[in-house]
Amino acid sequence: MKPILMLHEVAEWMFDLPLQDYTLTFDDGLYTQYVHFDKIKSIDTDKIFFISTGIVATEQTEQSDEFIQCHAAHSKLFENSDLSHYMNWSQLQEVAKDPRCEIGAHSHMHIRHTGFNTIHDTKLMMKHFEDNNLKPTSFCFPYNDENEVYRCLLKQYGFTKFYGKERIDIYDL
Ligand SMILES: [Zn+2]
Repeated sequence: MKPILMLHEVAEWMFDLPLQDYTLTFDDGLYTQYVHFDKIKSIDTDKIFFISTGIVATEQTEQSDEFIQCHAAHSKLFENSDLSHYMNWSQLQEVAKDPRCEIGAHSHMHIRHTGFNTIHDTKLMMKHFEDNNLKPTSFCFPYNDENEVYRCLLKQYGFTKFYGKERIDIYDL
């Protein structure tokens, strides 16, 4: 099995790295992942895109292909409801159609595990995936904050593969 690489925002220089030597995981559904999707697709390896279902652009959102780091995109979203740096569901469907790309789950609102809120958040996440005919079985903990209780809850919803801090950050290569 290949080591697992963690990516968020995607930039041109990253394609100079030996990405084919890793299973690639892309977090947060950032629009720059879609901007470079043709290149990503052509890499001879498996890819998982971890999506927070509450952080998806609408079909009307005017998206920006500007390079922005994921924390900055999250700040713009949480402060100004700005979804311009995220993919929309049509784009996610296109990603899902590629035989070597998988859509994984990454909570609904990118929350840390907090008990009751987690149950509510997970129900919303499942509903959004269902509404979009997706049935993810891979889950990536937001902030790589792994939690046994959260993992048990997710197993009840059919998740079998879990991802978090064991991944190598592309910025550490
Ligand atoms: Zn994330």
